[in-house]
Amino acid sequence: MTDILPSYIRDGWWAPEEDPDAAVVRDASTGEPVVRLSTRGLDLPAALDHARTAGQERLGALTFHQRAVLLKEFALVLQERKEELYALSERAGSTRRDSLSDVDGGIGVLFTYSSKGRRELPNAKVYVDGPVEPLSKDGSFLGRHVYTRLPGVAVQINAFNFPVWGALEKFAPAFLAGVPTVVKPASPTAYIAEAWVRMLVETGRLPAGSLQLVSGPVPDLFGALRLGDLVGFTGSATTAARLRAQTPEGVRFTSETDSINASVLGPDAAPGTPEFDAYVKQLLVEMTTKAGQKCTAIRRAIVPAAAVDAVVAALGEKIAERVVIGDPRAAGVTMGPVVSRAQRDEVVRQVRALQDAGGRLLLGSLDAPEVVHADGAVGPAPEGAFVAPILVGFADATAPAVHEVEAFGPVASVLPYASLAEAADLVDRGGGSLVTSVATNDPDVAVELMTRIAAFNGRVLFLSRENSRTSTGHGAPVPHLVHGGPGRAGGGEELGGIRAVLHHMQRTALQGSPEMLTALTGVWHAGAEARPGGTHPFRRSLAELRIGDQVVSATRKVGLDDIETFARFTGDTFYAHMDEEAAAANPFFPGRVAHGYLLVSWAAGLFVDPAPGPVLANYGLENLRFVTPVSPGDEIRVVLTAKQITPRETDEYGEVRWDAVIRNQRDEIVATYDVLTLVAKEGASV
Ligand code: NAP
Repeated sequence: MTDILPSYIRDGWWAPEEDPDAAVVRDASTGEPVVRLSTRGLDLPAALDHARTAGQERLGALTFHQRAVLLKEFALVLQERKEELYALSERAGSTRRDSLSDVDGGIGVLFTYSSKGRRELPNAKVYVDGPVEPLSKDGSFLGRHVYTRLPGVAVQINAFNFPVWGALEKFAPAFLAGVPTVVKPASPTAYIAEAWVRMLVETGRLPAGSLQLVSGPVPDLFGALRLGDLVGFTGSATTAARLRAQTPEGVRFTSETDSINASVLGPDAAPGTPEFDAYVKQLLVEMTTKAGQKCTAIRRAIVPAAAVDAVVAALGEKIAERVVIGDPRAAGVTMGPVVSRAQRDEVVRQVRALQDAGGRLLLGSLDAPEVVHADGAVGPAPEGAFVAPILVGFADATAPAVHEVEAFGPVASVLPYASLAEAADLVDRGGGSLVTSVATNDPDVAVELMTRIAAFNGRVLFLSRENSRTSTGHGAPVPHLVHGGPGRAGGGEELGGIRAVLHHMQRTALQGSPEMLTALTGVWHAGAEARPGGTHPFRRSLAELRIGDQVVSATRKVGLDDIETFARFTGDTFYAHMDEEAAAANPFFPGRVAHGYLLVSWAAGLFVDPAPGPVLANYGLENLRFVTPVSPGDEIRVVLTAKQITPRETDEYGEVRWDAVIRNQRDEIVATYDVLTLVAKEGASV
């Protein structure tokens, strides 16, 4: 008998001794059993508690950067072992190209979050959001927003079509946020999720309780959830609605569900243009990658009425040229089966629903296709789950079914439109989509469509001759950008850079004194204790430097000759610096004024400690504002205070952000900015 797939629970592998009712998962091409699934006897509440206790504790001991470094280690291990994941994915019907989006896509998500985590998050445990809000005139009462991690467990319920990418897109941000994960993969591909979890477990680097896997049903899950937990669901809109209703109050439930995505051929993209070719090529890719089992696949091709025949003909040619249906283990196969025979039956049922609503099959048919078997023989495959690519045509583009029915296979419909307003209306009839693409080289078309459709989509891709080769494609969410969409698409936002990390955290407004906010955030706030004098802070390594360490500079008087020298030297002879009469006529200046960049340069000269030491480089300024003009005869000085210290995990140095304030002889603020430096962790101090 086929083995029961183990779950990874409380840091160990677990499976029921036996369960005669265990569900059998079969090979998508041959129908042979692959594994059985059962969680009979699993103590799921104990697993959740393990995440909330051990997982929270172990992840909580790490900073964002330490977690990010681990994500990279995980990515490298999966990268090394990806052939094993490709081989398993073939059993679920995935070709090598399909695995690029799932396996390589998943690994890419880990790499991206690792790098974004280290670049965009502090090496700390709290994330400070937005600027300081002064709440009192004297600066003694401030407000600031912070994010802290949710105290519970992230339960991630995934769809069958992306057992690697779909799971890792949720695991990575949860892990980075410091929230432990329980993964519940979809049954038909649970063995692929089990494989990547096993690979991570085998690294020995997973913090205890940070990742658990349930390979099978989770009947008592929702009753065991509580405030501080969150559920990230990916799957069909129907299941999402059912599970959302069971979610206890206070538990965050987000969903990425099916969506009836659209792709619009612009009126300018007539046959013969590069945009037309790119459009047809993209449509083919979207219909056939993963045999069309992608939540982002194009379901509705919205095409100028006059171009419908040309699109159908061009697509038909491409399908004939490029699509070889069969077992992904056979050479030359470009499209595998859908995941199971149940799924194939479901696709057939949905295509019939489209036909009942007035759709005509323009390309392909519902008959089981002849396919290439693993041994290279061609013939019928009654045990396999094969479906041919199908294009359905609708004379009435407003037929409700075409905007509602998801045939989750290699199926799209083509809809004619007469005006851009009509095209936009058709897109929006999808009721909220993950993505719409628009093939156009005309910015006016792009602007008009964007204005009308953006609010109905999580992502909009504009395809033109300039990016048709470099575009990541309609169907490929990228970890840098929002993935999710409004309405029917589920309203989720589980992928999308640091936003997705913050989704696993709670934003809280903090109010208090500068001293208190400094202590709470680890970031120095103006008004908190500062330590001028003593050893110059540029002589202190990261090990010695403390936030609040400060330099108060000497003063420097600005002369007209300095302004003229700077103007000649740089070539910046703007009239405000060179022409008294014209400058005085300007509403902002009393007469000729010093260049802002002269003041910033002088400030550097005033605060610097020049000898070689722990400060390695200045890598920029941020938030520079010139506040008060400086006239000849004025005197300036600068105060520089260590504001934020971010040691790098994998380097011998880190970043120091310095608060810089230039003032004049009347103590008015002339300029404010942050100076960014790289500073050695140890040594080199004098
Ligand atoms: P599904 O049938 O809705 O199942 C999704 C997940 O929910 C599976 O893991 C399933 O587990 C689980 N589930 C079902 N009932 C449950 C319950 N009572 N308690 C806890 N979990 C439960 O969807 P699917 O067939 O796997 O995936 C295909 C659908 O997902 C398509 O409609 C597609 O458009 C959508 N999708 C959306 C996205 C997106 O990002 N928006 C991505 C991929 C797919 P079992 O398999 O064990 O039943």
